Amino acid sequence: MFFNPNSVAIVGASQTAGKVGYEILANMIAAGYKGKLFPVNNKAETIEGLKCYPDLESISQIPDLVIIILPAHIVPSIMEQCAKIGTKSVIIISAGFKEVGQEGRKLEQRVIQIARQAGIRVIGPNCLGVIVPANHVNASFGGSLPHKGGIGYLSQSGALLAAILDTANSNGIGFSKLVSIGNKADVDELDLIKAFGEDPETRVIAGYLENIADGNDFVRAAEKISHDKPILLMKSGGTGAGAQAAASHTGSLAGSETAYEAVFERAGIIRCFSIKRQFDFAQAFANQPLPASNRVAVITNAGGPGIMAADAIERYGLEFAVLTDETMKKLAEGLPPAANVHNPIDVLGDALADKYEFAIDVVRNDPNVDAILVLLTPQAMTESTATAEAMARASNEKGDKPFFASFLGADKVAEAIRVLVDNGIPQYDSPESAVLTIKMMVNYVKWRKRPRRVVKLFAVNRRKVEMIVEKHLRQGVREIGETESKEILEAYGFVTPKGAVAATADQAAGIAQQLGFPVVMKIWSPDILHKSDVGGVRVGLKNARDVMDAFDLMMYRIPKKMPEANILGVLVQEMCGSGKEVILGMNRDPHFGPLMMFGMGGTMVEVLKDVSFYLAPLTAEEARQMLVNTKTYKILVGTRGEKGVDIDVVAEGLQRLSQLVTEFPQIQELDINPFIVGPAGITPIAVDARMSVEKI
Ligand code: ADP
Ligand code: MG
Repeated sequence: MFFNPNSVAIVGASQTAGKVGYEILANMIAAGYKGKLFPVNNKAETIEGLKCYPDLESISQIPDLVIIILPAHIVPSIMEQCAKIGTKSVIIISAGFKEVGQEGRKLEQRVIQIARQAGIRVIGPNCLGVIVPANHVNASFGGSLPHKGGIGYLSQSGALLAAILDTANSNGIGFSKLVSIGNKADVDELDLIKAFGEDPETRVIAGYLENIADGNDFVRAAEKISHDKPILLMKSGGTGAGAQAAASHTGSLAGSETAYEAVFERAGIIRCFSIKRQFDFAQAFANQPLPASNRVAVITNAGGPGIMAADAIERYGLEFAVLTDETMKKLAEGLPPAANVHNPIDVLGDALADKYEFAIDVVRNDPNVDAILVLLTPQAMTESTATAEAMARASNEKGDKPFFASFLGADKVAEAIRVLVDNGIPQYDSPESAVLTIKMMVNYVKWRKRPRRVVKLFAVNRRKVEMIVEKHLRQGVREIGETESKEILEAYGFVTPKGAVAATADQAAGIAQQLGFPVVMKIWSPDILHKSDVGGVRVGLKNARDVMDAFDLMMYRIPKKMPEANILGVLVQEMCGSGKEVILGMNRDPHFGPLMMFGMGGTMVEVLKDVSFYLAPLTAEEARQMLVNTKTYKILVGTRGEKGVDIDVVAEGLQRLSQLVTEFPQIQELDINPFIVGPAGITPIAVDARMSVEKI
């Protein structure tokens, strides 16, 4: 009913041009709306020649859609009228709700309460409205009706939508639907991406969001919809999760954007950082077929732009298509001798449209080519419009390979660009923008082709963890200390170093004898989070003498540094063989749940910040990808003849942790640092661990 209403009532319609209540009515009329329009205004007889009604109840039929423009405090009473007459769809344009504070929040709650009771769906309040070009619906004050097209747009900011509309209108970009969701008191981004997902007219979903309400539902829905239709989002403002005081390494390394980045990656959402980029991408996705792979052919009438394209292709990790001998032979036959028949194909500065058309036709049939980028600079002989028409013919003919254009210049190519856009050929103001778009399409294709997600379940001792977690929650203790953290990890299949706590130097020497030298000693106190920071870690102690000296020194020095700390003794621990130190961690985002972390470990994690994040639960492939996404990965696989670390075992560690935090939502934060890992055959060891829990 929001998108194809047979009748629309505008409550608060006005006779005064410039007022929102007038503009919306005028926009509906200007859009050529075919249904019935009912202006509601108790002071006017007619507006724009239409009969005016004093209230909703005086209208002889039930309007499919009601648009409310009156001041916020009156809106609840209008909602009651809507409930009474039985309208099911309402757009509230009016501002003055949640966005202005406590009073407004209450009004908004009241409005939603009435809506829920009456089964009314509400868009807004505080929004710009809804536009559906194909149905001649412009229930907005955002601007004139845009072309119809394949982009479904949703925006959390009305003002931005006005800018988007303006940009789109001056570039001839078409939409299936545009919706301003405002305060999204009822209809929100999740409803809309679902609706756009099912809408046959929408080929691409695009939007601007400031936050996402139902984190998990959104991820799941977006992931599913992304398989059929690409989702392109601009997103501003973080989740704030990173801002909370973090006791763990993972917590302090997770920025406010980390969760969104992980969500977008998981759900295949293409993130855009400007309106221009968003339309660059959206136009291509909406109008061109997807490339089978990443091999790009470039056709140009000048060397410079060809080189610019070549640079971008290399920079973005795409491939320059290597043309077949047959293609090159054909090109040589039809192009002048000076033309370059290798990619980038240079048809030369004096090329007329027919040369372009010939080259396009030959290149598109080359099996080594996945995407075709046509560059043009308006030189003396250039027929830019005829070239655009030739491209349009080629693009409309048989649609298995995508076309992209970058016609450079302004006045001399303006008409040609219009031809391109009208024919659904995306046009870019630089070869670089075109290539970046191809890259986004290739990424999307890759994402779509990724294997089905299968999360492996390991056999674990859940009961053991349950007991430790419950004990802490019962006692109101948030932090789980090292010993019990390690017990939890052991229950999930991790190996931890052997060791025991000593209260005297003699005891320490005795434990060390039993473990066998060398040993490691660590200060043992619930109040010391980072032991090495206070000189509380000694490694490689080779004999009893060293152990006793180390004990005495720690017990003498550390209480001086930290007089408040309750020191219980010194942990004497077996020393792990040489290996690489990595960190495995988790930080729970309030909206999206557990975010897993992998990175270079040890005492320098926060300095190096070489970490990657992903949403749990992890598949084997995702865990592996987390490793690959760090610089540490190159060190792990072995440099300069050094034997590499067993990558699969590290990835398995991440999967086991992911299972732990999925099965225990009480765990809020968790670090294993270091997780000491070696080559195949060497068991990785969780040397140091920490977690925190909360009642849920
Ligand atoms: P903290 O993080 O509180 O400073 P850790 O237990 O992580 O204390 O130890 C700090 C560093 O000491 C580790 O990153 C590692 O380099 C080294 N280390 C600690 N325990 C061992 C061990 N058992 N075997 C080998 N190296 C160790
Ligand atoms: Mg540590």
